[in-house]
Amino acid sequence: MKRTPLARGTKTLKRSGFKTKPQNALGRKKSLKANLLGTSPVLDPQTANIKKTRKKKSQLSKLKAELWQLCRNIQIKRYGSDCYTCPSKDLQGSSRHLGHFISSSICSTELRYSLDNLRVQCYSCNIHKSGNWLAYETHLIADGINVQELKDRNEKTKGQMYRDDFYIQKIAEYTTILESL
Ligand SMILES: [Zn+2]
Repeated sequence: MKRTPLARGTKTLKRSGFKTKPQNALGRKKSLKANLLGTSPVLDPQTANIKKTRKKKSQLSKLKAELWQLCRNIQIKRYGSDCYTCPSKDLQGSSRHLGHFISSSICSTELRYSLDNLRVQCYSCNIHKSGNWLAYETHLIADGINVQELKDRNEKTKGQMYRDDFYIQKIAEYTTILESL
């Protein structure tokens, strides 16, 4: 008894699918004709879409790189070049890292660029000791950072998607901070 309406529903879906196909084909033919005649500035809508996505992606990665550089410069200016979690002093070049307390692999975008979650670290602490988090936490608490609030904020913001305007706003905010140091 239940089969009849289900089968009917499927048929309806199929029928409407067939209906849309010729329309699409016609649309493609039209745009092709327009291209041949030189009346359309867009060559192929699919190619145009790919180009648009690529452009947007590189713009976003540029913003991310710029924001990350600001994070680095602020924290180096604030805390110097000594490792935050071990006795290593005056770190230079590739051994001077900016490490996350809540690891970048599990933290939200918000925490990835949160200054409370970032400190200068040596290569060994950041990479080999996976952030040396126990020493990290002890130092953050001593610095008056509410570690629990940081963890809660990470849970709340995890999985949230951020667009260009988030990075643009953060860049403006951090530029002001850097200039005031
Ligand atoms: Zn270290």
